[in-house]
Amino acid sequence: MRLPTVRLLAAPQQKMPATSSIITLRRGLHKWQGKWLHKKPANDRLRAFFVWALDAWPLIAWALFIWAWPLQASATHALSTQREGCFDERRFCFLLSEKDDTSGSYVIRVQRYIDLPVALTLYSTDLGYKAHANAFLANNDPIVLGETQSPSRFFSTMRVKWTVGNISAAHNSEYRYASPLQPQQNYPIVQGVNGKFSHFGVSKYALDFGASEGTPVLAARGGIVIDTKRNGKKGGPTPDFAKHANYVAILHDDGTTGEYYHLKYEGVVVKREQRITQGQLIGYTGNTGFSSLPHLHFGVYVAKFHGRYQSVPFSLQNSRL
Ligand SMILES: [Zn+2]
Repeated sequence: MRLPTVRLLAAPQQKMPATSSIITLRRGLHKWQGKWLHKKPANDRLRAFFVWALDAWPLIAWALFIWAWPLQASATHALSTQREGCFDERRFCFLLSEKDDTSGSYVIRVQRYIDLPVALTLYSTDLGYKAHANAFLANNDPIVLGETQSPSRFFSTMRVKWTVGNISAAHNSEYRYASPLQPQQNYPIVQGVNGKFSHFGVSKYALDFGASEGTPVLAARGGIVIDTKRNGKKGGPTPDFAKHANYVAILHDDGTTGEYYHLKYEGVVVKREQRITQGQLIGYTGNTGFSSLPHLHFGVYVAKFHGRYQSVPFSLQNSRL
């Protein structure tokens, strides 16, 4: 614990005998004291204080400990709020804490604050030649990612990408998903698996159901709402519109997520962390994001590091898909 010198000098001063039990018992200490006092001609009051302090150090240490305890706690609190950077409505935070040694460096930790899995990648020049570190937050324990010499530099230069869900999810291929739009026959699949418009690569196994704006969307499979966006207003036929898509993502018990995209503005009726059963109303279709016609995009995904994800094959009830 680092203590301000000014407080030491403000301790009660009183005249004490130059010799004392501790000095006579500890010759080494006495010798050091003598040298110091001779080399440095301090004024008598100050010298008397140090002589007294040498004897009374256990008492002083105890008094300082008691005095500093609440200050220490409040200082730590103030610093920890300064050295914390949070993302996605406090889904997870980076926490910087000074190391116990004299290196002056800070340990970078990341910790999640909601009980749902998230895979993230931190990009920072403080992280060695690779300049990134991955963390899968499977529980609420903090994970150490590296060290930095400067919290301000770290927070002003770092980047983070994340994907909700479980990186080690193994999709239960036995599961039969309900159609998210009912009755199923009224909502044709306008783009299926391997669709040329956008169903390739990471979205290879997704389905698009044609539906006019405002059609109720029902959960194809139960789980916990892990992510939503509801305030997107724009939609268009190019990938740069993708960030405007409103959506609901539901974490399934096998670690995959069911994702429902292009919902209308304010067309999400569920909240993060809410438990959902199959067939439950979760929102209304729209045309937000990377979308040229009102429709619902539904896919089942596994989370990856670097903000990536991968769709997996799934089967619909009453369907050969
Ligand atoms: Zn789609």
